[in-house]
Formats: sequence, structure tokens, C-alpha cells
Amino acid sequence: MEYQSILNSIEKEASYKESSGNVASYIPELAKIDPNKFGMHLYCINSGHYGFGDQQERFSIQSISKVFSLTLAMSLLNDDELFKRVDVEPSGDPFNSLVQLEYENGIPRNPLINAGALVIADILISTLDNPEEKFLNLIRTISDNSEININPKVFQSEKKFSHRNAALLNLMKSFGNIKNPIEAVLDLYTFQCAIEMSCKELATAFMIYANSGKTLFDDTQMISERKVKRINAIMQTCGFYDEAGEFSFRVGLPGKSGVGGGIAAIHPGQYAVTTWSPRLNPKGNSELGMFALERLTTLTGFSIF
Ligand code: GLU
Repeated sequence: MEYQSILNSIEKEASYKESSGNVASYIPELAKIDPNKFGMHLYCINSGHYGFGDQQERFSIQSISKVFSLTLAMSLLNDDELFKRVDVEPSGDPFNSLVQLEYENGIPRNPLINAGALVIADILISTLDNPEEKFLNLIRTISDNSEININPKVFQSEKKFSHRNAALLNLMKSFGNIKNPIEAVLDLYTFQCAIEMSCKELATAFMIYANSGKTLFDDTQMISERKVKRINAIMQTCGFYDEAGEFSFRVGLPGKSGVGGGIAAIHPGQYAVTTWSPRLNPKGNSELGMFALERLTTLTGFSIF
């Protein structure tokens, strides 16, 4: 299939679209990003790399990091132990919502919303000596790039305004579902969100979810095939805040978005694909990113459904 010409026509169609979305501003450092950035990268198992636009420029991966922290936690703990602390149900609520925790005894609905990712961060602190380093190592290994790092300005900026995440942590701690000091968990969580990657690096990292848990560049089994199947199921049902149904309906791939405007998605056995456009729709997902991915699965005929 002529993937590059399909991507070229998606880029062209997108240039005619009026985007009304807004850049996330509740993290002041993110509000400074040029809203017109737009890039896409497709990494196919059989035929390699394709892309356009700002695909090589790094951006704040934000919530996309939740897939990597879940992967690290699942590689360390057995599923019974892990999923006692966090459920695997779609939330239907915004990413930073507190309400459901109140009536479900401090157990978050899934690991891809803030509450769930905070529990995962707590688990990583309890399990690892240097969780920040181990987390960064995982991302550097699967993206085959030792230079990936956090943006310290984004880290500081988010830390200063993380009252909501601190509230989630306090509420969960009152139910006994946070074991470490709140400040330590908040630091690790904010650290993971502040990582910067380009579309190309992110697609390379996400290839492990498309390729049965193995890197494509050196065939290393990073996580078992059975666990990848579960991570993909969680991405499919919970990866897009309270718009996971809409993303499945329109695009039909497991994936994860972040408020930095990135989306990473995969087709098992076929490809990993990423987009970056900072204008977000009211649910917090990249407007142009969703459009581009919908066009990709339509024009290639390759969605998982
Ligand atoms: N760091 C962001 C927060 O906790 C992540 C949100 C997101 O990308 O969904 O609010």
C-alpha cells in the first residue's frame, strides 16, 4: 500500500480544516506551545517509517506516559496484585475527576486516568529503588533513544498547579490506597508527564504494543504477549478520557492521548501511529489528531474492527 501518499493526502485534507480547539492552559508552560504545530508518523511492521509535518519535534507526552508506567508496573507485579488497587473499567468521567473515587472506596476506574496513574506511580515507588530512572530507562530502551528526557520547565509548571492531583491522592490515601508520601507520588507522576518525545520516537516506543511486546529494531521481548493484549484492551476502552467510545467509533484502534496534543495508537500485527496537534477538543483530545487517525483507518481500511 502507498502509505506515504495516503499520509500526504491526510496532511492536505487537514490543512483545509478549521480547528476551533484550544491548547491546554491549566499547565501554564503548555499554553506557550504554537497551536498550529501538526505532525504524524506511521511505523509499519513490514515496511518501516512514513510521516509528515512536525513529526520530529518533541512535545510533552503528558498522559501518554500512563501507558508506559502501566507497562512497567505490569512487568514487575502479577496482574491479581496490581488490579486489586486499580480497576479496568472505562470511567465516562473527565481525566482528573474525583467523584467516582468516593463511592468506589478509593479504587480508580482504570490506570489511564489521573487517579489510576497516581496509584500506579505509588506502586512503582514501593517496588523500585529509583523509579524515575527505571521509568526513563524503559522509554529510552523501547524508543531506541538514550536522549529522551523530561522538560524541567513543564515539570515545575505542572507541579505548581497540581492541586487537583494532590486532592486525588489525598482522597485515595484516606481510603488506604496510597502507601507512600503524597509528595513523592506527585513528583513521580509529574515527572512522567513532563517527558518529551517526537511523533517518530513515540511511534517507535509504541511498536512494542503492535509487535506482541517486542521491539522491532532488535526483537527484545519487553513484556509478555499476554500482558500486551491486556494493555491494548485497556487502551481501547479507557485511552481517551470520557471519549474512549467516540475514538473507537471513529478511529477503531487502541491508543492513548495526552493534553500536550499527542495521540499514540496501534494496530496489532500491523503498525504504530502517532499524531501531534496541540489544539484540544472539549474532552481534552487533539482535534486534528483524531481527524487524521480517522482518515488513516478509513483510507487504508486498516482498523481493528
Ligand atoms: N499531567 C496532566 C495532569 O495530570 C496529564 C493530563 C493528561 O494528559 O490527560 O493533569
